[in-house]
Formats: sequence, structure tokens, C-alpha cells
Amino acid sequence: MNDDKIISGKLAASVLIEDVKRETAALAARGIKPGLAVVMVGDDPASTVYVTSKGRMADDCGFLSRTYALDAKSNQAEVIELVKTLNDDDEIHGILIQLPLPAGLDAERVIQTVTPSKDVDGFSEINAGRLAIGSTGSTIVPCTPAGCALLIQQRLGADLSGKRAIVIGRSNIVGKPMAQLLLAANATVTIAHSRTADLPSLVRDADIVVAAVGRPEFVKGDWIKPGALIIDVGINRVSRGEKKALVGDVAYDECYAKASAITPVPGGVGPMTIAMLMKNTLEAARRIGR
Ligand code: NDP
Repeated sequence: MNDDKIISGKLAASVLIEDVKRETAALAARGIKPGLAVVMVGDDPASTVYVTSKGRMADDCGFLSRTYALDAKSNQAEVIELVKTLNDDDEIHGILIQLPLPAGLDAERVIQTVTPSKDVDGFSEINAGRLAIGSTGSTIVPCTPAGCALLIQQRLGADLSGKRAIVIGRSNIVGKPMAQLLLAANATVTIAHSRTADLPSLVRDADIVVAAVGRPEFVKGDWIKPGALIIDVGINRVSRGEKKALVGDVAYDECYAKASAITPVPGGVGPMTIAMLMKNTLEAARRIGR
């Protein structure tokens, strides 16, 4: 069924991927093949699934794709050494550290070792800093918020002047960069977190709600202003009787009833994240230009 209220990230991502494929072919004519290296430590099952699908998508786009699966017992020096080698590798334009890293490794140090021009996750201090000072053109934006921002732009346009937005969650990988992107688009932005008082009334004021909390069906329908646009970043695995289900951070049915537009889970933000990773890698290759 064609339901205009549902924002299909799956569809938007497939359009984005087609663009990436076309532009990759054009770059190839100049002798440049985007190269993506994914570094994984240990064998976390969810990470293995993500890494496999990222590698497959990179292949599909026509990239050089390399996956480095290090033993769970690898120490900090070994992981850092690999990242430094990739920083110096001319065939690699994008380096992604699959999180979480096993306990005992300092993820922040590993992430900050990635050279900013190859930091396709946008987590380095340089890229995060550029985004924070509003230098959105020169930075690499984290994939999940970049994907959410594109979905919002496709519905509401690039200029969000006069709109009130609330981002629930203040992580460095989703909440904070999301808030900065909304601010850059001229929205008036509230950032909520676990210490926020009376969250429902703040959400009731918002024309745009981005939920990145990590709690299943946390945002309720009676918090939603009629006609609001809802972006549900959450991915939560829950048990429904005998079955397992994937749900977002938003109570979908009740929020759908109030919203003008809403992303489903799955098929919303998830596919955008991986498409944005491909786009960031393509851009990095274009900028590095070799
Ligand atoms: P984090 O756990 O790093 O951050 C969660 C945020 O939610 C924190 O800022 C926390 O506040 C806030 N929070 C927790 N409880 C409450 C509460 N009761 N009221 C208000 N705020 C609260 O998660 P991430 O940002 O990494 O991810 C968020 C969700 O998005 C997860 O479900 C994750 O699986 C999903 N995700 C999905 C992706 C995709 O591609 N679709 C990609 C990345 C993440 P405080 O800072 O005070 O602790």
C-alpha cells in the first residue's frame, strides 16, 4: 500500500545508492576507485551482520572494499597500528571502526587515530568540531544524523526557519550532530536527555521530533503535536510472545495517528545510515583525489 505518511528510508536510500554508483563510475574514468576499510575487533554477532552488509554495499557501489576482522584478544597497540597503516594506504579513502570494541580497548583513542580526511563516520574531533562551528560544507557528517537530515529535508525543504525541533538523546554519534544539522537548517532546537524534566511537554511543542534514546517505544502518541514529523532512530530488539521483533524508540501506531509523517522501523533510518556511509566514502575519495 502506498502511504504518503510513511517516510520510506529504504526508498530514499536506494535512490542515494544509485547516485553513488553513477558518480563512482564517473570517478573511475579519472582513475579513482573509492576504497572503504572496515575494522572490526572480535565477533559480536550484530557487528558481524552490519560489517557484512556494509562490505556488500561497498562492493555493489563499485568501491574497493576491505574488511579487517581482528581477534577479540587484539590489544590497543595492534588496533592502532592497523588504523595508522590504513591512514597511509593510498587505496583507502574511508576507514570505519565498527563499534562497540571489546572491553579493554579504548574506542575513543582508536577513533581519534583515524585521519580526519578518511573519517567517513565523522566521529573525529576535527569533523565534529567543524560541524559544531557550522562548517557543514567542509566536514564529514556522521552517517545516521546525515541520513535523518536528508529525510527531513525531502519532506520539509532545506530551510526549517520557524520550525521547532526536539532531539531526544545527546550521544556524539546521533543526538548532538543531529541537533547541529537541524540548527544549521535554521530550526529552533531543543536537546533532551535522561536528566530532562517534563519531556512530554517539550515534545508537544515540536514540529519535528527525532528520537535517539535506545528505549523501545519510549515516545508516546499523546506527546506528539498534531501534524509533527517524526524520525525514529531507535533499533530495539524485543520479545513479542514467542517471537522477536524490531521496534523503534517511538510507539509507532499511536504516534503515526498524530504525525504528518513518520519513519518506520525497520525500513526508515537504518537503510539511510549505510547509504550515507557510501556517500561519505565517495566524497572522501573525491576530495583526496587519488
Ligand atoms: P546512546 O545510548 O549513546 O544515547 C542515548 C541517549 O538517550 C542519551 O543521550 C541518554 O541521555 C538519552 N536517554 C536515555 N534515557 C532517556 C530518558 N528516559 N529520557 C530522555 N533521554 C534519555 O544511544 P545512541 O545515540 O548511540 O543510539 C540511540 C538509538 O539509536 C539506539 O536505539 C540505537 O540502537 C539507535 N541507532 C540506530 C542507528 C541506525 O542506523 N538506525 C545508528 C545508531 C544508533 P544521557 O546522555 O543523559 O544518558
